[in-house]
Amino acid sequence: MLLLAPPAAEPSQHRVQGARIVQHLQALAQYGKNPQGGVSRIAYSEADLQGRQYVIGLMRAAGLSGSIDTAGNIVGSRPGTDASLKPLLIGSHIDSVPEGGNYDGNVGSLSAVEVAQILEEQHVKLRHPLQVIIFQNEEGGTTGSQAIAAGLDEKKLNLVSQSGKSIREGIKFIGGDPILLAKAQRQPGSIAGYFEVHIEQGGTLEQEKIDIGVVEGIVGILHSDVTIEGFANHAGTTPMSQRHDSLLAGARFIEKVNQVVTRTPGRQVGTVGWVKVQPGAYNVIPGKVTLGLELRDLDARKIDEMFNRIRSESEPIGRLNGTRFSYTEPLVIHPALTDKNFQKLIDEVAKELGLTTKTLPSGAGHDAQELARIGPVGMIFIPSVGGISHSPKELSRPEDIEHGANVLLQAVLRFDRH
Ligand SMILES: [Zn+2]
Repeated sequence: MLLLAPPAAEPSQHRVQGARIVQHLQALAQYGKNPQGGVSRIAYSEADLQGRQYVIGLMRAAGLSGSIDTAGNIVGSRPGTDASLKPLLIGSHIDSVPEGGNYDGNVGSLSAVEVAQILEEQHVKLRHPLQVIIFQNEEGGTTGSQAIAAGLDEKKLNLVSQSGKSIREGIKFIGGDPILLAKAQRQPGSIAGYFEVHIEQGGTLEQEKIDIGVVEGIVGILHSDVTIEGFANHAGTTPMSQRHDSLLAGARFIEKVNQVVTRTPGRQVGTVGWVKVQPGAYNVIPGKVTLGLELRDLDARKIDEMFNRIRSESEPIGRLNGTRFSYTEPLVIHPALTDKNFQKLIDEVAKELGLTTKTLPSGAGHDAQELARIGPVGMIFIPSVGGISHSPKELSRPEDIEHGANVLLQAVLRFDRH
């Protein structure tokens, strides 16, 4: 018997039209355009509504049957040839932060539409049903994707969003139905998977001249308010040896946080982002200081360990000048890991396209972290020029956008074959 080596994997001949994606990005940028050159297309605003209308038009032109689910997400469907298979999802979001840029979310959304358009134009039939999905209000706390993956509780529905409307009112405004919200929810195991292209929003890929980031996961976050109590006293008459200066202890604490976080190798980060000093006067020794501590990592255990170490190492700082540290119960967002097989698949197809890749975590939140609750997810990062995001200066180059979309197209085709 003749044994043949399996043929080396090659990317399919199908390619996206990069210029068309860029054109669509420019057209979408008109909705909510602001004088700084960026966009303020906050969820549930008029501009958001118009931008969504524009994308629904693109979906229809790409042969997708566009609809709005009860949570207000836009879902464009393309049937597969095997009705027994679960749908494969691709997409992102088109809402922005106030005075945001034209790439965050939009690149992934319009790349997903382009993938559907190419499949339509080149008469490619997938076995899996394909759904291009534009999640509503990502910037206001991954709202639409959360509605799909876990549901929204009353507290979240009553939250007032940046637009001035509550989430509940916002969902109605964009064509959803808050009363029938549960209809939009999907059960764990009900999707074949989810792929999302996104700008990196950091500078690693650009600095290291890497084309594609293969995202390992979305980092977990811990927040805790740290209070340091000392003794407020006259800044002129109290000798240096008799002070219980809570801000001095705070300064030492900030240094300690930095030491603990950087002591071990890894990509964990830790920040003291705000400080409140009381009473806060030139001539009074600070009696009480509150600090905002934040820790992030892909590994929940590591976040825990860092937090415990910071707590135990702050005790001697307090003893040094007679101050007392206390911590609020930490607020924790758990890390969401992407699927190992999806990582491998993205890495392989990118390399077959002649692109360089690097595996990295996402320090920012994304819709993919919600979808990870109901199925395997994969994320494809493209470089952000200067690592700038949530700013009118946000920029990703046309060739990088094209690369990202081609990796998405190949990932969909490769996944569908297996
Ligand atoms: Zn985003």
